Amino acid sequence: MENNTQRKPHALLVSYPLQGHVIPSINLAMAIAAKGFTITYVNTQSIHHQTAKAQPGVGDDIFVGARESGFDIHYEVISDGLPVGFDRSLNHDQFMASLLHVLSAHVEELVVKMIQSDHPISCIIADTFFVWPSAIAKKYGLIYVSFWTEPALVFTVYYHLDLLRKHGHFGTYDNREDTINYIPGVPTIEPTDLPSYLQENDTSTVCHQIIFKAFGDAKGADYVLCNTVQELESETISALQVNKPFYPIGPIFSSSGFSKRIVAASLWSESNCAEWLDAKPPGSVLYVSFGSYAHVSKRDLAEIAMGVLHSEVNFIWVLRPDIVSSDEKEPLPSEFWEECEKKGKVVPWCQQNAVLSHPSVGGFLTHCGWNSIMESVWCGIPLLCFPLLTDQFTNRKLVVDDLKIGLNLIGQRRMVTREEVSIKIKDLMSGKLSDDLRKEVKQVKYACQNALNADGSSQRNLDLFINDVKNRVQSRQH
Ligand code: UDP
Repeated sequence: MENNTQRKPHALLVSYPLQGHVIPSINLAMAIAAKGFTITYVNTQSIHHQTAKAQPGVGDDIFVGARESGFDIHYEVISDGLPVGFDRSLNHDQFMASLLHVLSAHVEELVVKMIQSDHPISCIIADTFFVWPSAIAKKYGLIYVSFWTEPALVFTVYYHLDLLRKHGHFGTYDNREDTINYIPGVPTIEPTDLPSYLQENDTSTVCHQIIFKAFGDAKGADYVLCNTVQELESETISALQVNKPFYPIGPIFSSSGFSKRIVAASLWSESNCAEWLDAKPPGSVLYVSFGSYAHVSKRDLAEIAMGVLHSEVNFIWVLRPDIVSSDEKEPLPSEFWEECEKKGKVVPWCQQNAVLSHPSVGGFLTHCGWNSIMESVWCGIPLLCFPLLTDQFTNRKLVVDDLKIGLNLIGQRRMVTREEVSIKIKDLMSGKLSDDLRKEVKQVKYACQNALNADGSSQRNLDLFINDVKNRVQSRQH
């Protein structure tokens, strides 16, 4: 680890307050600190409170262990504008409105404090979904690094929203349904593979306001860091690099090891699945998780549950307490619970990387969150895709149509049925189709591993970015 405190650039890294953003942001903080930066990492009070509740012993600072291991990372918490105990899952729009309208005032207060500190910040690294970073960076003369936690394909679709509007694929009450073939670096994409927000007719929601403002703001970023791999999305990435420095540096995993974390990142307490998995034959277990954020209807959840049982495979299912809604106390039917124990284990949350890297796991039924996809690929596990929201539809296209490392759980716009779920799980877990997927996923895994080698694309990109920022910071200091 590089250590030159005097001249170290100091960056403020503000994570988006959702689980799927917190994990890669913590990993990014460590990756950049390991290259000779001082980082001040910012969580909201709500995220900190939930993390500390999930892992007693965390205290006031989640980076104590990382600092003991030599990472120069400091920690600040700020309000997102809502009371800490407010149910953000149940009151989603209010939560998003707070991020849209209130959070920036708290960030700015912190930025001013950090500029006046003994070791002033020169750079702000913030999630692309924030609506304020380039404005704040400009006001205080800071370098702005936009951090995109999803694939480049999703970034470019949002970035070219004006093209989608111009061609009538978005923003009308009667959007075109034919293939989209005019986004630079994306030969073709179907409207049904666009992020869910871009498939909706009502574009006045708070999430739409966030997307419009955030991608307007992202145009002012000095750099974009993306949690993807050059070799997986080369055409899309090359087209994006025409606009501004866009660095694919993924997959961004913990610097302390894929399934070892020295920084508490989970918002729910993790159930240990190791002993249960140890007793199962290699490759026999289906891992089921729909991530941290999306909800599943009670009807679909029941069909999936019964389909999982009928497939007769072993399974571990992460069933978040708010999977249907935080006021739905019995998300699964009683007939599922009667049979579940014979083949499966249901937990509220787990250390997903530890589960995916266990030799007993052979398939992943997923909502197609990008972190989950990268983690599954890293473990050579093929995917069964059930996208629910936001980028997950676009990620499904990458997994099934482009990379050919997964299957669709259901055909487009059709209802999920237990019979189909059972058939698809069997196809995923064994037989010819399964063998073909495994061969492909192995290739993608090698591409990801190579990207992280010392001379791999992601390492080279990270070094280019680091050196460029260091040079800019040093030239300002002289
Ligand atoms: N995760 C976890 N334990 C679980 C379920 C998920 O640690 O029981 C982690 C998972 O490893 C991933 C993140 O939560 O890093 C979820 O991010 P993803 O992009 O897959 O989906 P999101 O939650 O953002 O929809």
